[in-house]
Amino acid sequence: MKQFIVVGLGRFGGSVTKTLISMGYEVLAMDKDQKKVQEFAAIATHVFQADSTDEQALVELGVSNFDHAIVAIGDDLQASILTTLQLKKLGLTTVTAKAVNELHHKVLEKVGADHIVHPERDTGIRVAHQVTSKNLIDFIELSPDYSLVEISAPTSMHGQSLETLNIRARYGCSVMAIRTRANEMIISPNAQDQVHEGDILVVIGSNDDIARFEKGYE
Ligand code: ATP
Repeated sequence: MKQFIVVGLGRFGGSVTKTLISMGYEVLAMDKDQKKVQEFAAIATHVFQADSTDEQALVELGVSNFDHAIVAIGDDLQASILTTLQLKKLGLTTVTAKAVNELHHKVLEKVGADHIVHPERDTGIRVAHQVTSKNLIDFIELSPDYSLVEISAPTSMHGQSLETLNIRARYGCSVMAIRTRANEMIISPNAQDQVHEGDILVVIGSNDDIARFEKGYE
């Protein structure tokens, strides 16, 4: 069973901790603030009050025995960067760090973070897409230029095959999967597979092509 360390129990780190616990994983949660430590005492598998920039404290907690750490410190950039550096130095295979801006992202990359997340920016992008497209269910940015979206099939697609809809030729994006109303997943659908209103299409493509596709079915 994978074991995780979460450093910083603010809204983001707290949510990561609760979700990992609800998924059955063991989590060592750490915060320098005693109040946070008390709040998570009944939630996380182990909770410690410690300053994560203190190498000795990390060694004493045995952090090198863990697989994956999530550095969820936002305001104190120095603490976020030093913690990421220490965790990589102590041999953690995977460190996921939260960045608050692009410069922070670049520095985290330089000190060895394996994954860098931007929760506020990504939620903002997702919400903007959701409020401007009535069929869009979810939006995942794969790179600055490419995305994957989940779109609820509108009435105008009902009963048509992918061949007839001709989405790739018309909009340049591809339907990777269809989740039917009966919750059945059709992965890599065939040209003959039919779409029904309310099915969910998983579509991949460039942001421009996806925007044209969404607009085409408004
Ligand atoms: P949120 O996820 O709530 O948006 P945030 O981005 O504002 O959080 P902070 O409030 O700066 O982030 O930090 C989150 C948590 O990290 C806080 O509970 C804080 O006490 C803890 N923290 C900050 N620095 C350290 C450190 N050096 N060692 C351990 N915990 C720390």
